[in-house]
Amino acid sequence: MGEAGLDTGVAGLSAVRAQVPSANELRAAADCVELPRHLRLWCHSARRAEDERHFDMTREEQQLREAIIAKCRWMNASGLNQGTSGNISVRYEDRMLITPSATPYEAMKPEMIASMPLEGEYGSWDGPLPPSTEWRFHLDIVRGRPDVGSVVHTHSTYATVLAIARKPIPACHYMMAAFGGNDVRCAGYALYGTAELSELALAALEGRNGCLLANHGMIAVGANLDKAMWLAVELETIARQYYLSLALGSAHILNDREIAEAAKGFSTYGLQASRPKPAKMRAAAKAVAGRQIEKKRSKTR
Ligand SMILES: [Zn+2]
Repeated sequence: MGEAGLDTGVAGLSAVRAQVPSANELRAAADCVELPRHLRLWCHSARRAEDERHFDMTREEQQLREAIIAKCRWMNASGLNQGTSGNISVRYEDRMLITPSATPYEAMKPEMIASMPLEGEYGSWDGPLPPSTEWRFHLDIVRGRPDVGSVVHTHSTYATVLAIARKPIPACHYMMAAFGGNDVRCAGYALYGTAELSELALAALEGRNGCLLANHGMIAVGANLDKAMWLAVELETIARQYYLSLALGSAHILNDREIAEAAKGFSTYGLQASRPKPAKMRAAAKAVAGRQIEKKRSKTR
């Protein structure tokens, strides 16, 4: 065994002792004949486990990228957004995945989603296309709000109409409680894509899960993509309801106690209800199977 081999062995041994050795280090250690057999076997199995972990991670990232594209397309199909003006980001480990700049959603592929580090060089990105021009507020929100796993930004019509009128949304509906307080603020105006806009948006989002952006659109944030999109839909709905009540000439506003009461139910509201528990799924499947059998029997009678 030459010097290079010995170096590999030493590197491999230190890799074994290190907390998180890479798959390559483990591979080198497993192949190093200088190491005792039991240690090489350990490195071999650890490398396989590391390979599997890595495979799972990339599969998870791939699924997130696909989910971002699916939500973008849904956002336009549902009328929540038009063209490519909306953008979505999702926290993934120590990075942020974000829709690329000016790319039609129909043509978007998972590998086109840009990936930006949360720490390190601010604004650097990986991918074939640059991130959305609005990457600053996405990145600043994900960096500054540990509770946020996803950011949805749209120019949805009614939220934008109120933002043009520079009207924050008061507690005109109990659903306001889902946004973390008794109003949705309207951030002051700054040019899209600027650090100034990002600062204004972060301030308007203080203690809230959504805000309007003056003469621009809205932002909704949530613990994950589903929750952020749910809130984006709710924000546009409340904006439309508030606008229409103003058109009617009166809007009665709920008081803080009424909103606090409504807020109590929101920790378990909405998304959980849409995910049936395995036992419930089994029961539903059994019921369907039962109905099928009954159908067959009645045909043969
Ligand atoms: Zn925008």
